[in-house]
Amino acid sequence: MERSLTVLHAIKDRELNEECGVFGIWGHENAAHLTYYGLHSLQHRGQEGAGISVTDGKRIKFHKGTGLVNDVFSEEAIEGLTGYAAIGHVRYSTQGDSDYANVQPLVFRSQIDSLALAHNGNLVNANALKYQLEAQGSIFQTTSDTEVLAHLIKRGGSLRFKDRVKNALSMIKGAYAFVMLTEDQLVIALDPNGLRPLSIGRLGEAYVVASETCAFDLIGATYERDVQPGELIIIDETGLSTERFSSSVERAICSMEYIYFSRPDSNIEGINVHSARKRMGIELAKEAFIEADVVTGVPDSSISAAIGFAEATGIPYELGLIKNRYVGRTFIQPSQELREQGVKMKLSPVRGIVEGKRVVMVDDSIVRGTTSRRIVNMLREAGATEVHVRISSPPIKYPCFYGIDTSSESELIASSYSVEEIREQIGADSLIYLSPEGMMHAIGRNPEWSHCGQCLACFTGKYPTEIYPDTLLPHEKVQPV
Ligand code: SF4
Repeated sequence: MERSLTVLHAIKDRELNEECGVFGIWGHENAAHLTYYGLHSLQHRGQEGAGISVTDGKRIKFHKGTGLVNDVFSEEAIEGLTGYAAIGHVRYSTQGDSDYANVQPLVFRSQIDSLALAHNGNLVNANALKYQLEAQGSIFQTTSDTEVLAHLIKRGGSLRFKDRVKNALSMIKGAYAFVMLTEDQLVIALDPNGLRPLSIGRLGEAYVVASETCAFDLIGATYERDVQPGELIIIDETGLSTERFSSSVERAICSMEYIYFSRPDSNIEGINVHSARKRMGIELAKEAFIEADVVTGVPDSSISAAIGFAEATGIPYELGLIKNRYVGRTFIQPSQELREQGVKMKLSPVRGIVEGKRVVMVDDSIVRGTTSRRIVNMLREAGATEVHVRISSPPIKYPCFYGIDTSSESELIASSYSVEEIREQIGADSLIYLSPEGMMHAIGRNPEWSHCGQCLACFTGKYPTEIYPDTLLPHEKVQPV
């Protein structure tokens, strides 16, 4: 199902940012320690908060806080999380505020049981459901969209837990990779479009689940398979059971996971992210060759594509830009002035490499154009005679509603300007984007699937789910809960 977006939706004023990362483990005496390491390897997916919930079979304990994983967890905090199963989360707030209450896992306690919940993605009908749930008496503790699922599960009353989860999942729309923990079950669910990556592995007898396979490598786990769209997995003392909770399934994994978000050492459905990016660079070279002296990539996510571009053209790849790794997340500063300073603090040109040279600068995307303009300027100031910009993805023209923090449509430079106008604004000698076909070919997913099973909505405006913008009245879009 594809629908074009007709109503604009204001999203927070930020550059393109990561979403969240989830991790879970069942059946290991060091569950909390391993979750801590797993979260470390997912840190690139969210830096605003982190948390771990653990069960010993009788009781769920948790520890969470704002900041990086290292800031949140002391050795003492981890030692206090005794149990054989755990879930963890790193957060970047695409929905809700970035305060402590919204840091996940969210933990809900009742007289008879508890539920810990961690979510990667974004529910597009969360506000509409909240409106209805509040009208029926629910009180929300957070401004996070994730809490909606907990309320829907709780409302299932005397049904079996699995059936309550299935009923709740059938009501929510959008992107979600959920890991949930009760006193005696680890529950995993992926939305019917499989918008976010989620993989399962084994560590000895233990089961592990993570947003990216790089988390398995760190703890020595073996990758088993990716969770399938619309799949519900329950792991308990009897083992792992799986079923589909939705019959309407159509793969549409986020293309930006391959282009930008995921770590290069992760594999998504068997496709290595670095290799996919390198092939994007090769396709880009076929589509947009230019005579030049050096190729450089904008660190870190564009380096793989730059290597591919250099390999295909025979132009040497050089480290023309260096990233200062100790600046922190300057891009989250909201004002334009601070964002511009942020680019300077984060990147430096290598004068000895680019001076007197015709430079091809490969980047993975352009959001507002501000960053690209600053980098082109820096290269020129460092003596580059020509700067040719090559982008290893198509122009981003539409906002994302699925957990990627893009700007509102009016701030996406490609939604208002032609490629030639963007070239002029960023001050490049030439600018060419990779075509959607080239990108899909490079990623190499099954060509028989619609759009190779990828979400392309930020390039095409064709969203794989219905969209429920805040501007629509909730009762216009949802059935009674
Ligand atoms: S709209 Fe773009 S960023 Fe969002 S899920 Fe789809 S491909 Fe990813």
